[in-house]
Amino acid sequence: MLHKVAKCPVCGSENAPLLERSESFLILQCRRCQLQFAQGIREEYIDVYTTDPIYAITTFRASEMSLKEMRERGYHVLPEAQKQALLWLRRHLNAGSTIIDIGHGAGWFLAACEQAGFNVVGLEASKDAVTMLLKKGFRVVLSSVENYPDNWPEPDAVTLFEVIEHVSEPVELLREILYRFPRAPLLLSTPSPRRWNLYFKYREPFDYPPNHLTRWSVRSIKVALKKAGYLSVYVQFVRVTGEDIYARIRQFLLQRFKLEATPLTLSLVEKQRITNIVSRIKRSRIKQWMYDIYDISNKLSKLFFKPLSLIFNTLGLSGLSMLVIALPPTYEKSTMICRETKVAKNFHRRE
Ligand SMILES: [Zn+2]
Repeated sequence: MLHKVAKCPVCGSENAPLLERSESFLILQCRRCQLQFAQGIREEYIDVYTTDPIYAITTFRASEMSLKEMRERGYHVLPEAQKQALLWLRRHLNAGSTIIDIGHGAGWFLAACEQAGFNVVGLEASKDAVTMLLKKGFRVVLSSVENYPDNWPEPDAVTLFEVIEHVSEPVELLREILYRFPRAPLLLSTPSPRRWNLYFKYREPFDYPPNHLTRWSVRSIKVALKKAGYLSVYVQFVRVTGEDIYARIRQFLLQRFKLEATPLTLSLVEKQRITNIVSRIKRSRIKQWMYDIYDISNKLSKLFFKPLSLIFNTLGLSGLSMLVIALPPTYEKSTMICRETKVAKNFHRRE
């Protein structure tokens, strides 16, 4: 039974009126912490690696690359928020430190971290992604945080990119991470409430239930992390880049032509059609050309959309995701003070 007013899963406020409807789902917005959440659904695992053409092709491409190629390429294909996260890790951790990436997907962040001299471990819910990375020699496991192997290394930092918005009990997940890895700072990313396309009233199809169950504000993510037990929380909005503008426009067009399978609005037949197109591309001889076109168009978009991205940045809009850094209570005080000064230069601290 769905109600038009429900309890916020983060701050517990009961003042969350209906914001919008999407298919059979109700999306509510908490008046206190501004979290937007889909009511009454539990997360279920959706394999975007086979139903989203861009994901499918980039993941498949990673599967064809050698470990060396992936490492060399890794940093360049990372989304902005993950580049910023890697920069933070390089500033704050020594080479050889261990990083656990929860929800590693195709493994680009793992590869980029290895290239930067870190020791990396991955946890993931997609069997295909784990199998693919195991073959390359990555240390990854199909596991939840709870079942993280006891004999595996304790991390110096944990990363959680674009995961929190998929789970139905986000505070529980954060609490579990802190409980299992009590010394490690947590770096997470989630779609930004200030991303430029929202300004134009375009919300991407992936940002609806049952794919995304929550949409985060600065306030709600801080409340969630502090409720989970983290001590300090910093939020950074990433800059809009030309590539980001191009990616959103591409997404809009794919959606227009029904080539984007994330939303529920597509029928099984339509999803099957996309899966067929993707598998045909994977087998085809023009595959290499497609990779090249993908790379070249990305590079060109950087220049082409640069003026527009500068305008968006001046307006205070952001790129796709925000980066959130949470420090646990046990994070050494002395290092924290000197590190905070460094962090303060780069991160907007807001209460
Ligand atoms: Zn709330």
